Amino acid sequence: MTAMPNIKPGLEALMRALGAEAVITDSETCAIHSQDVYREAEPVDAVVQPQDKDALKKAVGIATQHGLAIFPRGGGYSYSDAYLPSRRGSISLDTSKVNRIIEINAEDGYVTVEAGCTWKVLDDALAKEGVRGEFWGPLSGHFATIGGSISQGSLSLGTGKHGVSSEAVLGMEIIKADGTSFHTGSDGQAGKSPFFRNYGPDLTGPFCGDAGALGIKATVTLRLRQRAKLTQGLSFGLADFDSAVKGMNAIAKTGRVTESFGFTRYAMEAALVSPGLWHDLKLMYAVGRASNGFFGGLGQMVRMALAGRRFANQAQFFAHVVVEADNTQELKGALKIVHGAVKGLGKDLPNTMPTVMRAEPFMPYAVVSPLGQRQLPLHGILQFSKTVAFHDGMTALHEKYADDIAKYEIIIPAMFSTVSTHGFLYEPVLYWPDNANDFHKKYSPQEMIDGMRPEPNVEARKVVEALRWEIVDLIHSHGGVHLQIGKTYPYLRDRTDEQITLLKSIKAQMDPDGLINPGALGLG
Ligand SMILES: Cc1cc2nc3c(=O)[nH]c(=O)nc-3n(C[C@H](O)[C@H](O)[C@H](O)COP(=O)(O)OP(=O)(O)OC[C@H]3O[C@@H](n4cnc5c(N)ncnc54)[C@H](O)[C@@H]3O)c2cc1C
Repeated sequence: MTAMPNIKPGLEALMRALGAEAVITDSETCAIHSQDVYREAEPVDAVVQPQDKDALKKAVGIATQHGLAIFPRGGGYSYSDAYLPSRRGSISLDTSKVNRIIEINAEDGYVTVEAGCTWKVLDDALAKEGVRGEFWGPLSGHFATIGGSISQGSLSLGTGKHGVSSEAVLGMEIIKADGTSFHTGSDGQAGKSPFFRNYGPDLTGPFCGDAGALGIKATVTLRLRQRAKLTQGLSFGLADFDSAVKGMNAIAKTGRVTESFGFTRYAMEAALVSPGLWHDLKLMYAVGRASNGFFGGLGQMVRMALAGRRFANQAQFFAHVVVEADNTQELKGALKIVHGAVKGLGKDLPNTMPTVMRAEPFMPYAVVSPLGQRQLPLHGILQFSKTVAFHDGMTALHEKYADDIAKYEIIIPAMFSTVSTHGFLYEPVLYWPDNANDFHKKYSPQEMIDGMRPEPNVEARKVVEALRWEIVDLIHSHGGVHLQIGKTYPYLRDRTDEQITLLKSIKAQMDPDGLINPGALGLG
């Protein structure tokens, strides 16, 4: 961290412009905003919480005029140091109150929403109009915001068919470091609406996946489509990783699945991949509520819960997919095609997991494991053809660290996802016994926190850090790429000079003094 600048004039100016209540300096709030799922940084000097879009612009302009570094934060549900402060004299810019849904235009097929709106709130509003986004959120969407996800680059709901979050964006309003803003896409002039992305060079692209380093998102416009009438989950067990990749690739290529997830056997057994996902009974009620009887009555739900518990014994890898259709004939046809794709590779299993996932897509997931561990999810998106070699590399890494993994009780289940027809996301998640920080306590139920160690597990953390960088190197050596770059993934390491020069020139235009999320994307 750099030497402490004089922050007082900046904070006073922010209080005058936004109201004293919008500038929070208590140590607990500053600490929570300087911690993420993985770890904690030195606290910011204040959390600035604009209540509307105009206040957001003012906050950015005033903070930079006074030399304060700005670390934008949406829901705070990331784990790549993305919004953690990297220098002193800084504010956390909390966008969560800038959250209005500005326009749902079902006829023209778009919605414009302020960046601090969560995916859950947006989807609930869209459901009333019978429409949905194409990419329609990460599983963390109970807390995660549209602005955070578009800045991170996210995937999950809708990704099987429509790809990652940026592919759903039609345009944005972006705030520059001086507090002025502009629109990308077809918007931005009297008489023009944000209905189309490609009007000349695509100015939206550079701000998708920028980790907030290139500008602050004020609004985002997303493409809409009609909501499907029928939804059906399918689950398959696969004997080995090779079959799992072949099966998931073949399913992806059918273009019929909206979501496609895979798990290692260990992940299914430990039931740790998404904390809370297996709270069967609660979820079974949700299935009943959400499915309108489509999945059957209570007896069927109980059978699903039991089957879900049993089927983990039957395979080494698991694939879960969701198919949507507007009528039974279309659904049956699509299911037949998907089944055909995995023929000879996988075995049908009860479809508990995709059914539960779609019944309650935005569960308020905790940020520690039910067994009282901290977690660090890592990921790479790989070509299908390089995935088996990468998996072999992960197996070798397990062997290399076997003693430490056993000694410190580290476990590394993995989750997979296909991205449209052309990408395979491999997500190892490291879990280890450790204490809880303030952020963990705020976003996890007390019973999970009670199961955590009282003291920091310093030695285990060292091993986790070493594994973290080995896994990142392994992903790069197999040509993998990342979403969620934040301040973790070494984005600039394998970019060409031309790419870096262009990126830096955009940064210099948007943020000449380097005050917006310094360190993110590897930019100072
Ligand atoms: C239990 C759990 C489940 C998860 N599931 C998924 C999943 O299914 N898919 C997935 O992709 N990820 C998932 N994640 C990771 C993460 O939640 C998502 O990437 C999510 O999109 C982050 O959104 P957020 O609003 O919390 O962003 P934050 O963590 O608040 O911020 C993320 C980045 O965006 C920047 N930012 C935030 N708002 C703005 C803005 N208005 N303007 C400019 N920059 C901004 C921040 O500076 C930071 O760099 C999960 C995480 C957890 C803990």
